[in-house]
Amino acid sequence: MENTNNNHHALNRIPASEHRIDENKICDKARYVVETLLKAGYETCLVGGCVRDLVLGIEPKDFDIATNAHPEQICEHFDNSRLIGRRFRIVHVYYHRNNIEVSTFRAQASQANNQASNAGANGRILRDNTFGTIEEDAIRRDFTINALYYDIEKSEVLDYCNGYQDLKVGNICMIGNPETRYREDPVRMLRALRFRAKLNLTIEDKTQSPIKSMGHLLSEIPPARLFDEVIKLFHSGYAMRCFQELDNFDLLHVLFPITQKALNHDESFSLLIHNALENTDTRIRSGKSVNPAFIFAILLWRPYLQLLEQSNQQGIPYSEGSWASGRRTVLDQTTVTSIPKRFSVTICEIWKLQNRFQKKHGRKALQLMSHPRFRAAYDFMCLRARSGELDEEDCAWWTQIQTLSEQEQRKMVDQNNKKPRKRKNNQ
Ligand code: ATP
Ligand code: MG
Repeated sequence: MENTNNNHHALNRIPASEHRIDENKICDKARYVVETLLKAGYETCLVGGCVRDLVLGIEPKDFDIATNAHPEQICEHFDNSRLIGRRFRIVHVYYHRNNIEVSTFRAQASQANNQASNAGANGRILRDNTFGTIEEDAIRRDFTINALYYDIEKSEVLDYCNGYQDLKVGNICMIGNPETRYREDPVRMLRALRFRAKLNLTIEDKTQSPIKSMGHLLSEIPPARLFDEVIKLFHSGYAMRCFQELDNFDLLHVLFPITQKALNHDESFSLLIHNALENTDTRIRSGKSVNPAFIFAILLWRPYLQLLEQSNQQGIPYSEGSWASGRRTVLDQTTVTSIPKRFSVTICEIWKLQNRFQKKHGRKALQLMSHPRFRAAYDFMCLRARSGELDEEDCAWWTQIQTLSEQEQRKMVDQNNKKPRKRKNNQ
């Protein structure tokens, strides 16, 4: 058995006077869960990204808790809890909108006895449910900065992997041998890039250098998991940076092969993606919602248009051709990342509505504004205009009409009934 724990150090306890964590940033529910398990006699800490963020002075977006209580024992203490997961059996404790993840300390599968079957032939971890000590739990995590624990009782950060120091100097370092750890779980590559983009850190050389050559391993990850990871990249508030990271590490062609192909020499598509991702980042950072369907609609727009063009040439009517091309495009992408049905329908609707923005006259123009997907389709159209695909005037017209009363709106479309219509392309 290979010993890969070269960043394994003796336990370092960092006192409050040094880490200066603002405990007001710890959500009450997470504190309650920790305190309940502590009272029941279990060793329990906050762990992972929330401790990392607290040390950095950032408000954590979710809280993970690690304990030596077994999953069934955790559940006994919370009515609002559920055992989930097969690969990792963890407990979710539900509170309204957010849930708190509680997991039992686990050992790295390959280190435990009789666990050879936990790793597949390619080195990938298939199951990881071997319980262990807090120390073993620390070294099976991905990066040293994600392996910090917070002891709420003593207000101490517990560090088994030198993660505190790495965090202070802003370095993302894999625990153990990076190549082995990427082979076990290729998603760690995406996580490294996301944390760099989001937290403005650096990735140490030996953690970064295997990514380019090992990126193809991501294609072995189930599409549903990749969808989740891709959404995390694009909803991080740093979607543009993440996209550039994917491009720099040749991962775009692994995750979005048809997008990458269409991007070749297409400045306008590249600008569209750029503008859309910056827009997403602005929305996320100001607390607004974003729909995953919108991002996928943008990324797959050109591949869709190419299919639509072929269907036009075959004389297939727009309405039919748009749906068929849309569904085909989405299906092509789902060989890599799944796209849940509720999103794929929205994507196709956003695309299909695009040609309706050319019709700025008659009843249909007015009806468009009450379509359930109008808002998304309108935002999409404005981004197209900003990237030079459409006249800015079109966008301005639709922006203006939304601000008017019904009577004025009718007047505006009536004026267009009298003017000859102009078209930039068939969209
Ligand atoms: P954020 O929630 O801000 O995206 P995070 O680090 O908390 O970042 P989670 O997915 O919530 O990410 O995971 C919680 C913790 O679980 C991580 O901090 C890390 O310690 C561990 N972890 C998550 N994914 C992996 C993985 N693929 N391999 C090893 N450890 C992981
Ligand atoms: Mg987290």
